[in-house]
Amino acid sequence: MIPSVLPTYSRAPLRFEKGEGAWLIEADGRRFLDLGAGIAVNALGHANPALVAALTEQAEKLWHVSNLYEIPQQQALADKLVAATFADTVFFTNSGTESCELAVKMARKYWYDKEMPEKTTIVTFGGSFHGRSSAGIAAAGSEKMTKGFGPLLPGFKHVPWGDHDALHAAIDDTVGAILIEPVQGEGGIRPLPDQCLKGLRALCDEKGLLLILDEVQCGMGRTGRLFAHEWAGVVPDIMMVAKGIGGGFPLGAILAKEEAASGMTTGTHGSTYGGNPLACAVGCAVMDIVSDPAFLEGVNARAGFLRQKLEGLVASHPDVFEGVRGTGLMLGLKCKIAPADLVQAGYTCGVITVPAADNVVRILPPLNITEDEMSEAVNRLDFAADAVRDAMA
Ligand SMILES: *Cc1c(COP(=O)(O)O)cnc(C)c1O
Repeated sequence: MIPSVLPTYSRAPLRFEKGEGAWLIEADGRRFLDLGAGIAVNALGHANPALVAALTEQAEKLWHVSNLYEIPQQQALADKLVAATFADTVFFTNSGTESCELAVKMARKYWYDKEMPEKTTIVTFGGSFHGRSSAGIAAAGSEKMTKGFGPLLPGFKHVPWGDHDALHAAIDDTVGAILIEPVQGEGGIRPLPDQCLKGLRALCDEKGLLLILDEVQCGMGRTGRLFAHEWAGVVPDIMMVAKGIGGGFPLGAILAKEEAASGMTTGTHGSTYGGNPLACAVGCAVMDIVSDPAFLEGVNARAGFLRQKLEGLVASHPDVFEGVRGTGLMLGLKCKIAPADLVQAGYTCGVITVPAADNVVRILPPLNITEDEMSEAVNRLDFAADAVRDAMA
């Protein structure tokens, strides 16, 4: 008999009752250090007092009104995002894949209005992840996500990640945009070298294409800058955001330059919940903390500390790990064993991590995790790695 919850997930037998900062706690009091943060969502940890205050204060006043009316919290968050980034305008969604939907629609409408409606193709990359909607799975294109769900949304051309020649060969007169994650998350924590992102920007400028960045996982301070592309010193035309922006409250956004967004006029897009008062009140509180340069400096310091600890872990378990990869607090342990085994052993040792493709275990702690917590988390990973090695022997 089918379970009452549609069985699309393989769930670990963990049942958390509450969270405190970087800790998740089960009903019996067992405490876990959370190096997954809800897959880069709980950017400021669990039950962060500033976010709880923003949420409860707004909850007592007004949860939801339609986008038929003015929403000051939404306006405030849009103004903050515009002030802090390349963007001129923002549309709010509830998730990453909804941001993908709008990115695709926005790119198509841009070319339609330019009277080049044939430029519907968006070039995407192997190993990418853009969500589970019809546009999201067609954009990423992997068989794992698309098999059985055809016919797929047309208009995507997939090139292998890092294959310069394939990219250039893919660009014909039907191509209107390039879509890429500055740091692949699900794909196994693969940062695009700054040089490559610069090259993509130059290519888009040369061919007149839109550059769309998916910063759903790597954005909102995760890499030590507010958005990952800032490290390369170039800007996109359109950017997808979600995950960390709500700190645990469902919220996403599309940020765009005026020119790229010019086709999205009244009536061309909408969302019932997107940008409602409750979500945006929390989003403003997250943004105020994460966009503070002093906070981002702290993220970089914590990232340096954690990376060093993880390098030590790898060095002392050469039979389990191949190396550390990633940037900021978006790190990956490349494994010689099945990553799921390490994640599983971590549960027993009281530390939460997240598996990814390419034999990688993701390390995505809350951005405000302390040095003591990071040390303790790596100690627990050390025990987990011992357990995995002993099980192999
Ligand atoms: C998680 C993720 C998405 C999809 O976000 P949802 O909120 O699950 O729809 C899209 N792109 C990237 C890079 C992601 O990590």
